[in-house]
Amino acid sequence: MNIVSTPHPVIFLISAPSGAGKTTLCHRLLGECPKLKYSVSSTTRPPREGEINGVDYDFLSREEFDQRVADGRFLEYAEVHGNGYGTCLETLQRFFTSGYSVLMDVDVQGAAHIRRNLQKESIDPAMRKSFVDVFISPPSLQSLRERLEGRAKDAAEVIEERLKNAADEMSQAGLYEFQIINDNLDMAYDELLAVYKASTLKTICL
Ligand code: ADP
Ligand code: 5GP
Repeated sequence: MNIVSTPHPVIFLISAPSGAGKTTLCHRLLGECPKLKYSVSSTTRPPREGEINGVDYDFLSREEFDQRVADGRFLEYAEVHGNGYGTCLETLQRFFTSGYSVLMDVDVQGAAHIRRNLQKESIDPAMRKSFVDVFISPPSLQSLRERLEGRAKDAAEVIEERLKNAADEMSQAGLYEFQIINDNLDMAYDELLAVYKASTLKTICL
């Protein structure tokens, strides 16, 4: 039996309804944890003001996205709020084998696909066993609305669609190993950092 030495890299997956504060929390975590890299997803969604191609997302046309699906380049992909989103398998493997933890921001469907796909025989067992998932909730649906409206980056109908999906997403929080309520931002951040650090210290036997 081979015991992986600690701290070791982890595959750190975070889901949350849109507007819960996931991007804010993830940026802070990435800023403070040099051994943590962000898995940049591909999407067909148009960039929001201030978003940078290749940094926030790889912004693709529908044709480019469908081609990557056909070429098997995504560990998972899903239609979320009417747009395609996908996680690049090659990027994940490259970071992980170089000794970096990888932060993935995916929706609840993507999380379910990743849990399933990591069980495939082609996946490195070290990567499979170092998978950790965290669900971030807002304190209430009313505060979610206020945050989405306050962010002022989505059209009114986009906000309504995101709110419509939020209750269903929040009903799946119990499928995640950890749950954090983002009410006070600093407190939620401290909890997220504690979960990340503890995860890198978990005993892994191969
Ligand atoms: P997400 O990535 O989950 O869609 P964001 O990180 O963009 O969410 O946050 C949505 C909005 O809510 C932003 O304007 C952000 O500044 C704000 N926000 C995040 N966390 C909190 C919090 N704990 N209290 C109040 N506002 C917050
Ligand atoms: P946004 O458009 O607000 O950036 O993201 C919308 C939703 O898509 C969020 O729930 C986010 O977690 C999810 N998402 C982002 N990247 C991916 C991905 O690669 N795969 C999946 N399944 N969902 C993603």
